[in-house]
This record gives sequence, structure tokens and C-alpha cells, in this order.
Amino acid sequence: MLGEGILKGLAETAKNFAGSFVSAERMTTVQYPEERIAPVEAARVFPFLVYDGADWEAGMRCVACQICEKECPPKCIYIEKSKDKKPDALGKPQFYPAKFDIDVSVCMSCQICVEVCPFEAIKMDNEFELATDDRFGGLLQDRKQLAKSNEYYHTIHPTEAAEVDARLAAEKTKAAADAAAKAARPPAQAATPAPAQKPAGGGE
Ligand code: SF4
Ligand code: SF4
Repeated sequence: MLGEGILKGLAETAKNFAGSFVSAERMTTVQYPEERIAPVEAARVFPFLVYDGADWEAGMRCVACQICEKECPPKCIYIEKSKDKKPDALGKPQFYPAKFDIDVSVCMSCQICVEVCPFEAIKMDNEFELATDDRFGGLLQDRKQLAKSNEYYHTIHPTEAAEVDARLAAEKTKAAADAAAKAARPPAQAATPAPAQKPAGGGE
């Protein structure tokens, strides 16, 4: 029927309009900031750096490999690698970021930095109330501001954080088993000297 689609659309609009006065499901307006809706688990805003344990500096997972810095499309990550090394989550000596800045005024929340990080060191936060009147300094976050604990990660993305923990634990177990197997291996035997060659054409 000619105009059927328009009538259906108008009926839907009328139903939502009337329903918004009586149905909680259709009352979509929230009186922010007095009222707030808890972010869904998949919400992502800007990245943060995960650390393990109580000390953000010692427990930072980032090893300053700079992959995220290279892959970030708008180039809003700046990293300076340390001169010395500290043990990572597996106990292996690794570099760490002496400087790690993200300019969140440039970040486009694409999550590429998270996807390319081989160390589960950078994740997406759901914190969005970052408004400031300091356009430059106020939105340039340094490594201390970016550092957030693994417990915090679990509160905002529990499913994902549990998967990451399981993956890291499996890697740690495998590394320990490899190290134990290596330690138990007998030392390499000294190379057997090759038999002396007879001189060519030599008789007895
Ligand atoms: S989310 Fe995207 S734009 Fe933001 S820091 Fe990561 S890679 Fe760069
Ligand atoms: S956050 Fe990940 S990818 Fe970026 S420098 Fe640190 S370890 Fe490398």
C-alpha cells in the first residue's frame, strides 16, 4: 500500500513518545551529572597502563618495546626507553618506559595500541570525565597518570581481565617448565676430534 512504510514509522514514533511517559525502559534521558548510567563492560575511552602488585612503577608490565608508539595512527604516544632493566612478570630482565605519555586530546580511541601490545600492558579505560580548561598540559597524561592496577582492570573489564590473567599464568608456567628442563639437561659433550686424514697419494 502506498505510504505504508511512513505510517508504520509514525506509529513507532507515537508508541515511543507515549511510552516514554510511562515505561522505564523507554525513559532514555538521564539527568547527568546528577544521574549516571554505569558503563557497559565493553565501553572503551582512552588507554591506560596496567601494573601488577602494589607499586605502580615496579609492577608496570610495559617493557618499552615501542610497538604501540609506532602503530598508533595519530601518533599520540611518546615513549622513552630506560637505560637499565628490571624483571618483568616472568622474571626476565626487561627495559621499562622511563617516559610514557599519551596525548588524549589527539587519541581517537581506536584501541590499536591495545591490540598490538605483546605484553598485555596497555588496555582501554572507561573513564570519560576528563574535561579540563588546560587544553595542552591537562590532556597530556604521563606514565604515573596512566598507570592503573590490575585490580582496577578487573573492575572495569572483568571478563577480559580474567582471560588475560589466565594467559599470563599459562605463559609463566611454560617459562618455568622450560627453565627447569634447560637446567636439568646434561652439559653439552666436548666435540669429538675428527679422525686425522691420510695425506693424498701417500703410501706406506
Ligand atoms: S587508542 Fe588508538 S589513537 Fe589512542 S593511543 Fe591507542 S593507538 Fe593511539
Ligand atoms: S604498552 Fe605494550 S606495545 Fe606499548 S611499549 Fe609497552 S609493552 Fe610495548
